[in-house]
Amino acid sequence: MSKSIIIANWKMNPENLKEAERLFSGIIKSISDIKKTEIVICPPFIFLPYFTKAIKSEEKLIKISKKIKIGAQDLFFEDSGAYTGEISAPMLYDIGARYAIIGHSERRNPPFSSLGGTIGETNLEINKKIKAALRAGLQPILCVGENLRDENHEYLNFIKIQIEECLDGISKNSISKVIVAYEPVWAIGNGARPATPEEFYEMKIFIRKILSDKFGVKFISGARIIYGGSVDDKNVESFIKEGKADGFLPGRASLDIKKFSQIIKICETSNN
Ligand code: PEP
Repeated sequence: MSKSIIIANWKMNPENLKEAERLFSGIIKSISDIKKTEIVICPPFIFLPYFTKAIKSEEKLIKISKKIKIGAQDLFFEDSGAYTGEISAPMLYDIGARYAIIGHSERRNPPFSSLGGTIGETNLEINKKIKAALRAGLQPILCVGENLRDENHEYLNFIKIQIEECLDGISKNSISKVIVAYEPVWAIGNGARPATPEEFYEMKIFIRKILSDKFGVKFISGARIIYGGSVDDKNVESFIKEGKADGFLPGRASLDIKKFSQIIKICETSNN
C-alpha cells in the first residue's frame, strides 16, 4: 500500500514569520515516529526559504526531512522573464520546494465572487502550470471540484472537463507524479459541510476512470486521489476507511497544531 499524503494548505496564513515558525515546529514535533504518511507543508511564498533551509540544516531534522516536504501554493507557467510579481517552478525547486498546489478553487473562481475567488484562473493556465511544475521536477497537486452539485449530475461533466483540460498533453510517464485533489467548492471554508466519504469514494472512482481512459490503466496505478474540504480530526478516519482517500488537503485544520497532529496520527494508524 502506498503512503498517505497530507498536504497542509496554509493559504495566506499565519500573519508573520514568528507564528509560522511556531506552527512549523509544532508540526515537526508530532511527526517523529510516522512511517506510513508523507507530510507536505505549503506556506505562503515568503516563508518558503525559511522552512526549506530549516529542514536541510539541522542535524536532527535530517531524518525528518524524509517525512516532511515543502510545497508552494501556486507558480507561474513560464520559467523566467518579464512577469512582474510572478514566481517560477525552477525558482521554487531551487529553494527546495518539491510540490506545488495548482488550480485551487480560490484562484480559479472569478475575483470577488461569493465563492472566494481571486484570479479567475482557467483550465488552460492551470494546464501550463502543471507542465511547468513537471518540467522543473515539482510534483503538482491538481485541485478540481464543482461549485455546486446539481440534480442532473452536470457536475460530473464539469469535473471531467476540468481534468481533461488541465491534464491535456501530459505524458503517460508523468501522470503518476500528479496528485489529484478533489475539493468540492461547496465543502471548503467556514460553515461548509464536508463531502461524505461515500460522495468522495464515488468521485474517486469517477476520476480514476477519466485518468485511465486518458492515460491507460497501467500508467495510473500509482496516481493518488486525495480529498479536501473541511477535513478535520473528526472526519479523517471515515474518509480513509470508507472513502479510500489516498490523502488529504486540509486548509483550516492545518493551522491548528493539535488538530493537524491528530490528523497525522489517525492517518498513520488507519492506513494499513
Ligand atoms: C482548501 O481550501 O483547500 C480547504 C480544503 O479548506 P478547508 O479545509 O478550510 O475547508
